[in-house]
Amino acid sequence: MSVGEDPEKNVPPGREFQLPTDPDYLWDGLKDIGLGIRWVAEVKKADMQIELSGPKWEYKSYTIMEVIEEPGIVRDGIVTLVGPDLHEVEPGTSVPSAWDIKVYGPGIGQRHREYLERQMAMALHGIEGYMAFGSFQAPWMRISKAVAGRLTFAKLCQIIHAYIKTVVPQVEAMEFRWIIGAPEIGGLDLIEPLYRRGIQRLKAQEQSVALEDEDVDLFYGCTICKSLAPNHVCAITPSQIPYCGILSYNGAQVTVELDPEGYIFPMPKGECKNFLQGSYSGVDAAVYERSNHQVKRVNIFSAIRYPTTNCGCFEGAAFYIPEVDGLGVAIRRYIGVTPLGIKFSRLAGTISGGSQNHGYKGVSMRSMQSKTFLKGDGGWNRIVWMPADLKEEVAEYIPEEIYDKIATEQDTIDPVELKEFLKKKGHPVVEKFWKNGEPQSLNVPLPGGEWADE
Ligand code: SF4
Ligand SMILES: [Zn+2]
Repeated sequence: MSVGEDPEKNVPPGREFQLPTDPDYLWDGLKDIGLGIRWVAEVKKADMQIELSGPKWEYKSYTIMEVIEEPGIVRDGIVTLVGPDLHEVEPGTSVPSAWDIKVYGPGIGQRHREYLERQMAMALHGIEGYMAFGSFQAPWMRISKAVAGRLTFAKLCQIIHAYIKTVVPQVEAMEFRWIIGAPEIGGLDLIEPLYRRGIQRLKAQEQSVALEDEDVDLFYGCTICKSLAPNHVCAITPSQIPYCGILSYNGAQVTVELDPEGYIFPMPKGECKNFLQGSYSGVDAAVYERSNHQVKRVNIFSAIRYPTTNCGCFEGAAFYIPEVDGLGVAIRRYIGVTPLGIKFSRLAGTISGGSQNHGYKGVSMRSMQSKTFLKGDGGWNRIVWMPADLKEEVAEYIPEEIYDKIATEQDTIDPVELKEFLKKKGHPVVEKFWKNGEPQSLNVPLPGGEWADE
């Protein structure tokens, strides 16, 4: 080839293949090599050495990081393993687990816990043969056979110890206790009471730093997802965990302190324009400014009217079902069809990208636990459908009298049947939102549009 000649000219034509491009079928044809949407970053059952917790154990397990504020209690670098190590179990073992991580560092307090947890998740992310799903309170871990001869539970602790001490030098000591709930040490009978107490301890820790939206003048904003959705801005308030689930108000505050030039920024609340909907002048001003002047107003607590925008990394989403004038909520792991007649993956694709999609809002698992969850739309009184396992997972946050009245895929995914179900069960949406026993569908504006009645 001479200088200046186009090297492309010498490439033979080759063969072209068409991959599936429809969001519902992206993984089609890969099953025979063991891959599918459920297997992304997942260790398959057949390949696992051990599974810790997860649905089989109804998630009755925990990973709890605790900040100890007194010096001299946390023994640095100590790992106590209770039960068998990784190579000591039969391949394919599944057991519950209780993992306690204690941290001490001068100046490190309860409000830093979440930041440290995030660092821990970062440390574990992408380790060969290790997968983790779910939250710290409802973990699901698998470790593959391929690494069972090399990896140990102590090594996993070492990775966290080394990573956190490197990235957060203020941490002076970390101690671990990992209980692998094998039958010979007591199985679920041992773990379950510990789990119950652990969750209480965690709640107490959270309570100790819990704030209400009314307690603060400053919210926080995040624009990490701007690279994917240029007009997207998240507002983080004490009651609103953003839908990616990565940080809470305290976490945002600590992050701004440690990294003031980062993507997370203070968002003065300004004047409260509508308490129920969560409408604030300061939030609107900041969102307008940072959304390239595309989004003029947001209601923090509404999926229906002027919701916050969705970049794409939401754990779940709430969606308006016009036929019943109610809201459905689903999360990513639900692979069935929703009452909108589409799967979650398609729904997620449609509402991602950062425009204001009236009737749709990304939600996090933790935001479902908040008392302000969708309160602008009527809260749980408006939620009519959820996948069964999600409903179970957030059961304690759903008002008792409504729990049985929310339909799941096991009842129906058909809007006509859903309407009958809600009537029969006496769901509060019938009384509070329908008129004369009939749903009044809202005329939801197109993305980026305005409501006619306001
Ligand atoms: S989704 Fe999460 S990471 Fe993305 S902008 Fe919102 S808070 Fe930041
Ligand atoms: Zn995002």
